[in-house]
Amino acid sequence: MNTLNKTKNIINKFNIRANKRYGQNFLVDNDILENIVEVSDITNKDLVIEIGPGLGNLTEYILERAGYTLLVEIDNKMIDVLNDRFKNKSNYTLINQDILKVNIDEIVNKIQKENNIKFNKVKVVANLPYYITTPIIFKLLEDENVIDDIIVMVQKEVAQRMVAKPNSKDYGILTLMVNYFSNAKIEVIVPNSSFIPQPDVTSAVITLNKTRKYNVNNEKLFFELIHKAFAQRRKKMINSLESNKFNNMSKNDIENLFVKCNLDLNTRAEQLDILDFINIINNID
Ligand code: SAM
Repeated sequence: MNTLNKTKNIINKFNIRANKRYGQNFLVDNDILENIVEVSDITNKDLVIEIGPGLGNLTEYILERAGYTLLVEIDNKMIDVLNDRFKNKSNYTLINQDILKVNIDEIVNKIQKENNIKFNKVKVVANLPYYITTPIIFKLLEDENVIDDIIVMVQKEVAQRMVAKPNSKDYGILTLMVNYFSNAKIEVIVPNSSFIPQPDVTSAVITLNKTRKYNVNNEKLFFELIHKAFAQRRKKMINSLESNKFNNMSKNDIENLFVKCNLDLNTRAEQLDILDFINIINNID
């Protein structure tokens, strides 16, 4: 039975109504599901974390391939469906929680210890709830050290922001954070007809391979710089930094810093690439 018909059966059996508040749009397109697991390159030596498994359409593909799977779903109605659908599977843990409140590092380390195994790679594979895409991505990049790769469906515009180039409207905080922590690539654009119910937006699958490419003297200050530089993105960056009290520096101090870094004093944040931002930080005494 194809995924669309399976989904319709589950919806009838469990009397499901997609909950908009939780961003529930179920992926029912077999080609896209296959494409996601293919680009995820899941092996039986990997631990896969799926955020928001929902009715289990993507989960079914993941469970077939992964060595172990961790599912984190906020909606207890979905938990009943998943427990029933995968009652014959054993190599997974299902947690009924808000992903933003879960300490993934801790749970993955516990699973490895209990099973006396060290997974080759830890991958997040998910069709994310769009209302909290950015906080989830920031958490996976910044806070969760065990994660190697992230393969997620997001709104197309968000994917474009992740891979944007300087001097474009999409370029900003998300671009720089993604670039700082990973190599990003848009894999496929997905029409809204691939989901039920259909979302209003087009989607995209993006892969983020986590890697450390840059040396920054003070990471905390680097994140502060990015946020404050783009706080008023149409202003000159010096003015945005001053009015947002970057590093408690005076306008004069900031101007001197720009001169030291060979930057035009009229520069706007969107004109600088990541190496310029890093150079600013590494030139602060
Ligand atoms: N994976 C399913 C699929 O592809 O058909 C469902 C994807 S749907 C876009 C997003 C899922 O994330 C829903 O099942 C929703 O209940 C769940 N979700 C929403 N907010 C969440 C949160 N804060 N933590 C964990 N899961 C969440």
